[in-house]
Amino acid sequence: MSDSVAHAIEHVRQQIHAAEAAAGREAGSVRLLAVSKTFPASAVQQAYAAGQRAFGENYVQELQAKASELAALDIEWHFIGPLQSNKTRIVAETAHWVHSIERLKIAQRLSEQRPDSLPPLQVCVQVNVSGEASKSGCAPQEAKELALAVAALPRLQLRGLMCIPEPTEDAQKLAGQFALLQQLQQELRTAGLALDTVSMGMSADMAQAIAAGSTMVRVGTAIFGARHYHS
Ligand SMILES: *Cc1c(COP(=O)(O)O)cnc(C)c1O
Repeated sequence: MSDSVAHAIEHVRQQIHAAEAAAGREAGSVRLLAVSKTFPASAVQQAYAAGQRAFGENYVQELQAKASELAALDIEWHFIGPLQSNKTRIVAETAHWVHSIERLKIAQRLSEQRPDSLPPLQVCVQVNVSGEASKSGCAPQEAKELALAVAALPRLQLRGLMCIPEPTEDAQKLAGQFALLQQLQQELRTAGLALDTVSMGMSADMAQAIAAGSTMVRVGTAIFGARHYHS
């Protein structure tokens, strides 16, 4: 098992390098976030042994449990799931990054609750680039106002934007949704925000996301295997 996680990570790294090269991008310009949701702390340890340091979690309780169990390791925890206001404190105290900011109220709570002993929480605003009603994220036309407000909060550092596109076989549609996020990011930079992160691309669409300008891919299945939610 530990071998298979190590091999899978190596394979994903090679895919990232190939996609960087194919897109004419600098080697190492895309970071790998290993999404460990639903997998036990032992799986995180295996990836850690293979050199992986950044891990993504979707569920607050699970983040809390793994971060506490693995507190001795030098892990950078990224919270990437939907966040309700009654759970913000745990995230503010535990995570290094939050990718899923979609409302100012949540961002304000995170900023207020971020302990002074920790560096500012690194955050991305999540944008609903597909317009699907079921999807998290702010509407594209609200992204600028939200990003500017988040960037002004004292205990948060806005790093960029995040999206989860519509699952589709249609390569053009997918490219259009990735391009929209990249375009919004450019608009925010033009508006004066110093942003360096475009969080997009998962196991199935890493290469397309990298071609479209992703700087951080969030990869679960390709590293840890298929998820079983009711274990
Ligand atoms: C689960 C999840 C991922 C990883 O998806 P895979 O298809 O398993 O790579 C990435 N981002 C978010 C927000 C997720 O919830």
